Amino acid sequence: MPRVFNFSPGPATLPEAVLRQAADEMLDWRGSGMSVMEMSHRGKEYMSIHAEAQETLRELLAIPSNYKILFLQGGGIGENAIVPMNLIGRSGRADYVISGDWSKKSAKEAAHFGQVRIAASSEENGRYTRTPAQAEWKLDPQAAYVHMCSNETIGGVEFFWTPDTGPVPLVADMSSNILSRPLDVSRYGLIYAGAQKNIGPSGLTVIIVREDLLGHALPVTPEVFNYKIQAEADSMYNTPPTYAIYIAGLVFKHVKAQGGLEAMEARNRAKAKLLYDTLDASRFYRNPIAPEARSLMNVPFWLQDPQLDEAFLQGAQARGLLQLKGHRSVGGMRASLYNAMSIEGVQALVAYMKDFEARHA
Ligand code: PMP
Repeated sequence: MPRVFNFSPGPATLPEAVLRQAADEMLDWRGSGMSVMEMSHRGKEYMSIHAEAQETLRELLAIPSNYKILFLQGGGIGENAIVPMNLIGRSGRADYVISGDWSKKSAKEAAHFGQVRIAASSEENGRYTRTPAQAEWKLDPQAAYVHMCSNETIGGVEFFWTPDTGPVPLVADMSSNILSRPLDVSRYGLIYAGAQKNIGPSGLTVIIVREDLLGHALPVTPEVFNYKIQAEADSMYNTPPTYAIYIAGLVFKHVKAQGGLEAMEARNRAKAKLLYDTLDASRFYRNPIAPEARSLMNVPFWLQDPQLDEAFLQGAQARGLLQLKGHRSVGGMRASLYNAMSIEGVQALVAYMKDFEARHA
């Protein structure tokens, strides 16, 4: 059976070369006589996999030496609580910037752990079509941190600029755009990302945190989610999600072999342009996001006549174009174009869209 083009927002399509390598190594990882899934996390084989995944990620993102990389569990939603538990203690206050449903959810959870202020929001009638401009950010100099979401997976709104928060550490949920283009890690205090888009299987959360932010956890913080304890234990205070980390390591190497993040950006821009150009050239489809904030990773779009949605999805499925249904909260369609989505996949999608339009317009 041929592989489909999977436009899922996550868990999402992964590089075929990585899946093939994992299949080859499934029963016997490099002469160990074991699957990676079966290895003790304290054994030398797994320890080498763990270390190599960390080193490759550090290289890919040029992560400075005063930042720790943690491989934890709990996902993006877990981090909504884990971030404030670890960071808000310095002043008891934090600023949140709202650019979509995910950042809004983060702010709501954080309020359980301290005083949360909305420093800026681009919400208009429950919808989001842009990022809040820097001039709109009303920052609290006493805030322990400022939180943002660099790419809103549901709304399709992405930051293409790095906010300036002065001495207050910037914290970003990069679940859906990490590794999609080069990133200056030194501009952030903490970055977190659930793995199941550009990194690997769900179950792994990657945290990149500046060392001076460690050690301020609220007493209520579970030890397993205490960044300092996990940093000192090299993310092995508990049993880490070993197989997910192994796959992530293969993905990091694959991205590097493909030319690194500059190459990812060029490919991702070309893919997104193809789709946005198709949307803009049509009266049949629309995407309302401000051009400068249009996500390269998640492209929501709507048919003018929602009664055709079902026929659109069925026709797409018949052509091997899967998981195009939009998030239930906004309806319509959404095509997620993560690193592992090929240009051929996007070409097949726009060809189908034009064909569908010609038959129904
Ligand atoms: N943040 C963002 C930007 C996301 O896209 C998602 C999931 N789609 C989450 C957080 C939540 O991730 P999880 O369900 O793994 O906790």
